[in-house]
Amino acid sequence: MSTNPRCHPTTDIMNEYIQGNLSTGWSVAVSAHLELCQSCKHKFSELELNFVSSWMQDSSGNGTQDFSHLIANIVDQPQLDSIDSAVLRQSPIGEIHMLDHSFTLPPILAKAANEGLVWKKLAGGINQAKLDIDTETQCEFIYMSPGSQTPMHKHQGNEITLVLDGSFSDEAGIYEAADFIVRSGKEEHQPVSEEGCLCFAVLDSPLTFTRGLARLFNPINRYRFRKTIAQQS
Ligand SMILES: [Zn+2]
Repeated sequence: MSTNPRCHPTTDIMNEYIQGNLSTGWSVAVSAHLELCQSCKHKFSELELNFVSSWMQDSSGNGTQDFSHLIANIVDQPQLDSIDSAVLRQSPIGEIHMLDHSFTLPPILAKAANEGLVWKKLAGGINQAKLDIDTETQCEFIYMSPGSQTPMHKHQGNEITLVLDGSFSDEAGIYEAADFIVRSGKEEHQPVSEEGCLCFAVLDSPLTFTRGLARLFNPINRYRFRKTIAQQS
């Protein structure tokens, strides 16, 4: 996949990722973006180096600081690396097949997809396959068929969308492969896709539909979300 994305994780998000403070869902989204984006891969190496050198200066300058929490987080990080290497061994090509299309996935998502995806058709040409990888967030692949659109909605928490193939647009712009889009709870949007689009999405909390009949399903969505989280924990 050769890509030149316009939307990237912020420096704050990258630093939280380096320190192991992100949920698994967010970490996987950042990690997958790094696999697709050369400029972020480069920036990540620099931030990581800064972090390690400032950490080493602090720890040598003041022996009384307690870094046990920090070390525990860093020790947790290699889990993602070990997923990467496991994928490379077991599945050099992670692919998703949808209708007449096949899509090559970044290794970390290929591992998750290899566990088996169950696709569910939603309204408006949207297909969803949930991933059982996190207890704090809802992670899913979304495939928007060509010419599809989601209902107008906003979020109670944050939503990350990582575009894997194709493109979609909303009120704020057009998004293409490797774009890393973060939406906050205040923004109302209605993604549409002319050519079709495969995305990896991470949701902190359920969607709230704001227009028309779809609003009636809000309590059910909240219930389903809680049930999904409960089943995963
Ligand atoms: Zn990037």
